[in-house]
Amino acid sequence: MAFWLNFTFTIIEFVGGLMVNSVAILSDAVHDLGDTLAIGMGWVLGKVSRKQADQRFSYGYQRLSVLAALLNALVLIAGSVFVISEAIPRLWAPEMPDTTGMLALAILGVTVNGLGAWRLLRQSSLNASVIRWHLLEDVLGWVAVLVVSLVLMVWEIPILDPILSIGFTLFILFNVARNVWASLKVFLQAVPTEVDTDALVDALQAPPAVAGVHHVHVWSLDGQQHVFSAHIKLGGEPPMEELRGLKSRFSALVKEYGFAHSTIELEWPEEMCRNAEQGNEEGE
Ligand SMILES: [Zn+2]
Ligand SMILES: [Zn+2]
Repeated sequence: MAFWLNFTFTIIEFVGGLMVNSVAILSDAVHDLGDTLAIGMGWVLGKVSRKQADQRFSYGYQRLSVLAALLNALVLIAGSVFVISEAIPRLWAPEMPDTTGMLALAILGVTVNGLGAWRLLRQSSLNASVIRWHLLEDVLGWVAVLVVSLVLMVWEIPILDPILSIGFTLFILFNVARNVWASLKVFLQAVPTEVDTDALVDALQAPPAVAGVHHVHVWSLDGQQHVFSAHIKLGGEPPMEELRGLKSRFSALVKEYGFAHSTIELEWPEEMCRNAEQGNEEGE
């Protein structure tokens, strides 16, 4: 529902922007295209990622959302390059947009985005500040077009149109860069910033029976669901009862972090680390 509304409106913006000869409207259209794609992909991914993990994809399908975010970024970059290539020549040779058409599209834009924002904000589950901020951007982008169209009706300063367009497109690209960086970190299996690996390793190392912790790996499936694994070397061979106590202590520690997948390997004092030769890790 929200998807089709956005989709239809994005097409109206692109066609309308070209018809009324306003690059500011085109840059708003690119922004809304990004939103439409994000909603559409969220919709499709919501269905696909609910599919359970299987033998071929043992972690399930959540990582598709990272791929989708990168594809969305590529579309936004392509759209931004197009708008900027249209807008820059107009800085030197400004063209007057059809201000009446521009005003009409701006009123439509404020209405559609305002209604969308109002509807989403009424659902309390979506009150995250990120979403609030984004909805505000959607509306403010169109308010800016509205103001410029009103100014152009009174004074003939056509350069305002490409200036607004370039400013808004740079803002879009700034957000794209931020999102791409976050997605790339997930792709490259960076340690999620909210996980304090040192604190976790210290806690795992605290029991006197533990000689050391190595092969510590923390990464994220999709930015929200994280994976943890580690090898724990024991200093001796404690009796079963003590071993049980140790295991449940490790388990409780790791559980606090809420990892979606976690694995701990226990090594005996004289046991060679199975992965010692792999990669550049010190192993033991
Ligand atoms: Zn390793
Ligand atoms: Zn090991």
